[in-house]
Amino acid sequence: MTDAYIGLGSNMGDRLGNLATALSRLEAQPGARIVSVSRVCETEPWGVTDQPPFANAVAHVDYRGEADILLSALKSIEEAMGRVAGERFGPRPIDLDILLFGDEEWASERLTIPHPRLLEREFAVVPLLEIAPDATLPDGTPVTRDAATLGRIIGDLGPVPGRAGDSGGGTGPLAGRGDGSPDAGDWVAVGPGRHEFGAGNTGTDFNLLMYESFLTAAGIPVAFLPHRPNETLLVHPGIMETVRMLVPARHADEARAIIADLDVAEDR
Ligand code: ADP
Ligand code: MG
Repeated sequence: MTDAYIGLGSNMGDRLGNLATALSRLEAQPGARIVSVSRVCETEPWGVTDQPPFANAVAHVDYRGEADILLSALKSIEEAMGRVAGERFGPRPIDLDILLFGDEEWASERLTIPHPRLLEREFAVVPLLEIAPDATLPDGTPVTRDAATLGRIIGDLGPVPGRAGDSGGGTGPLAGRGDGSPDAGDWVAVGPGRHEFGAGNTGTDFNLLMYESFLTAAGIPVAFLPHRPNETLLVHPGIMETVRMLVPARHADEARAIIADLDVAEDR
């Protein structure tokens, strides 16, 4: 039996429904048993940025079989769910990636494990750490958010329908909120509140980015609406935008205290 971690993504149609369907089909594969499923994060599009936001999650699958057989199973599920092969990085009803497969390393044209872009994708790393806080690459490198600058998380979409009890066992960044508690999934704006910037601005709001780094270091997940500041204005220079910084409701007080401390330090 191998502990496999599968990344799921959808940005067409009923995104949460697509994730649920893919998981049921995965579960129906011979040798596959779903151990846990992370919550679903909403992710800004990466690669081709002119497309709808994604819904992403990670599933821990106990798999009895070879990695390339699992890949074939994932591809057949993608195809059955209407994915058109060849449209790389474009909109898709479902994308299924093998992120980790035990401590195995694969490097063929068809299959690379660990997934070559795992550590740079926030939408893969954050849900993975939620269900596997101690995840490492086969060479022992710990999985961290440090290099995850693509596919930023902009919201929390709650559990995959029908999988509410499957997450929340870990101590990772989104852990503990898969228990169906009333505040699960509530994110609130903290700190400077709405922050406008636009033409004439450098495009980077250093305060917001500083708050983000301190909050993240304290283990508090941070999201921005509509976008993380420094990336947005590179895409839309000169357009006035209002950015809000969000944290999960249960972290709001702690986050406000950290930001207040930073503001005091700056005024000195
Ligand atoms: P991405 O998942 O990076 O967005 P695609 O899903 O469009 O890109 O890429 C699909 C191709 O990547 C598949 O045809 C598959 O053969 C190949 N591939 C290589 N390694 C993996 C992996 N670990 N998991 C899933 N697909 C992989
Ligand atoms: Mg893929």
